[in-house]
Amino acid sequence: MIDWSLATEVFSLVVGIILLINYYGKRWPYSRKSRFYLASLLLTIASIILNILCVRSLENVAEYIPKWLHLLINSSYFILILLMVTVVACYLVEIIYEHVYERVWMHRLRKLFIGVTAGYMALVVSNPFTGFLFWFDGDNRYQRGPLNRIGYCLMAADVAVIMASAVLNWRHLSKSTRQVIRTLPPVVILLTAFQLLYPDHLLNGGIMIITDIIMLFNFQSSRIELDSQTGLGNRGSLYRQIGRRMRQRSFFQVIAVSLTRFNLINQYYGTDNGDAFLYEVGRWLSELSPQVQAYRIGNVEFCVLLPYQGETQAERWADAVGQRFGQPWQVGEVSTLLSARCAEVVYRGEQWSCSNIIEFINYSFRYNGSKERMVRFDQRLFACWERDRQILTLLRQAVREKRLEIWYQPLYDCRSGRYNSAEALMRMRDRDGKLISPGVFIPLAEENGLIDELTWFALEEVCRFLGSGKQDLESVSLNMSAHQFASNELIVRIGNSLRRHQVRPERLKIEITERVLSEDPERMCRIINQLREMGLRFYLDDFGVGYSNLSNLLEIPISCVKLDQSIISRYPRDRRSCAMVETMVHLFHQMGCHIVAEGVEDELAAQKLRLAGVDWLQGFYYAKPMPEQAFAEFLSAQPSLPDSCGNC
Ligand code: C2E
Ligand code: MG
Ligand code: MG
Repeated sequence: MIDWSLATEVFSLVVGIILLINYYGKRWPYSRKSRFYLASLLLTIASIILNILCVRSLENVAEYIPKWLHLLINSSYFILILLMVTVVACYLVEIIYEHVYERVWMHRLRKLFIGVTAGYMALVVSNPFTGFLFWFDGDNRYQRGPLNRIGYCLMAADVAVIMASAVLNWRHLSKSTRQVIRTLPPVVILLTAFQLLYPDHLLNGGIMIITDIIMLFNFQSSRIELDSQTGLGNRGSLYRQIGRRMRQRSFFQVIAVSLTRFNLINQYYGTDNGDAFLYEVGRWLSELSPQVQAYRIGNVEFCVLLPYQGETQAERWADAVGQRFGQPWQVGEVSTLLSARCAEVVYRGEQWSCSNIIEFINYSFRYNGSKERMVRFDQRLFACWERDRQILTLLRQAVREKRLEIWYQPLYDCRSGRYNSAEALMRMRDRDGKLISPGVFIPLAEENGLIDELTWFALEEVCRFLGSGKQDLESVSLNMSAHQFASNELIVRIGNSLRRHQVRPERLKIEITERVLSEDPERMCRIINQLREMGLRFYLDDFGVGYSNLSNLLEIPISCVKLDQSIISRYPRDRRSCAMVETMVHLFHQMGCHIVAEGVEDELAAQKLRLAGVDWLQGFYYAKPMPEQAFAEFLSAQPSLPDSCGNC
């Protein structure tokens, strides 16, 4: 009788079961790595159990068990063990080629492993007739066949192939994959050699469980797929999950939540409580339904993925999320409302990609036409998104082909009664030659990294126009976005353009909005001061909309404030607006700033604003924006003034 020691197998079985409990307890997010790991673990446990069964049945009760059952148990064991080797080999090949662009070899190797396994299975199935692997003598005693060790040979061949692929692709391997490649093959080879030398010490289960543990280390690195703070999946795992559902053509609903002004929560309640609130939000979302998968995709952005089960159910879930953010959240003693914007996208088999879904979510977040907390990315929003995309394509083309235009809107100087300055406004045409408003394409350019090119184009055009010297024009103001103040490039560009066209810096004014100032006041102040030293002056545009903050005017040297047309349009007929405008005019003059009134559309407003002491008037009443040539003619003709400026 063979004296086989089962201690290692039993020990390995216990470790395998612990790993399995740990796997299910942690609810790992879906990934190919996790599936491979689970498959390998299940095969390990099953083959160890079978091995124990084989040995016990052969040791104690061999004569009571029919030969076919012996054959069945042993054959199953042989099959399971090679399946396990194949799963591990495929897993390793996958992680080796994870960051390799050309994956032909990955597919070839996978086919090779599967082919070899199929051949081996044919050998196992035919074994009862051939006895190549093992056979049972008349006393039901296990006898090794001539090819008994072929499984080890195949495993050695797999290891060799994997090592070769790893060496060839070494520079593409991630740190954790390199670690697996450094440890797994040598350990497996060593243990296998030991097993071959001492066949009575059963080590197969041990080898397999060590393989699983090493795989777990690598798979744990996919904990990068988990957000450590909330335990939810992260952005990467959301992408993978969406991709998988799309490939399977299963319909789903995505609800995204972006917490707003969360920095205030951190300030009021401390970052520990802030973290606890984030955890609480994640926990609540992950318990929205048994089928939900919750992710934290940004610092204060969450996402849940739900199967689409019809409009009513989708609405119910969206409402539940929207309503939850209308109620207070409790962490310890602290209870507070968390303000949030929510977006919902439903996928019903459309030809979208995963990045489309993320784009739709971001688009819904940005979409400010609705004051609702939950914005659904519906047909209407989809149409807006498509229109924006078309405009963006046109914009890219226009930038490439330098087809943008700069128009000029004259500013009426109340003191001299002449048009001696202007605002430069960008124009773009669609394919039919129709003008597209900069109010539409400038925000798109800002969001899509095109604003720099647009600004440099405008800067060059304005300097060229000012430098042409044909007109009697004191200055032109140019609108700038926050992005331009991110680096010193602005200073260099402005300096170069002014020099190239021989324009005095005082003739170029820069219009910025308060949004620009709020981005990074310190850096802004530094850049503005540098440009002021060069001689440029700054206008504060659209004053009166958003968070008009007078302290900005104390911090930042602004030479002129442009009152927004939303104030001016109500001005002449509304007593309170009159009081406000007149007070502002007085205040800004006291602070040493000039004032432009934007959006002057009628005679009455023009008259009253002049009386109030506004320095410049800009609006359709005086002149609409016009192309360069028309503006040059307008200036040289200096049309008869709509009113005398005697009152100014
Ligand atoms: P803004 O700088 O406040 O420009 C004034 C806007 O008011 C212009 O719209 C102008 O056509 C419009 N406007 C002037 N007078 C009147 C009036 O009496 N009534 C009405 N209803 N509107 C009047 P436009 O040209 O559509 O520009 C919209 C915005 O796009 C600008 O607002 C500015 O923020 C931005 N923008 C335009 N060109 C550029 C540019 O070259 N660079 C950047 N960064 N932004 C630009
Ligand atoms: Mg402006
Ligand atoms: Mg404005």
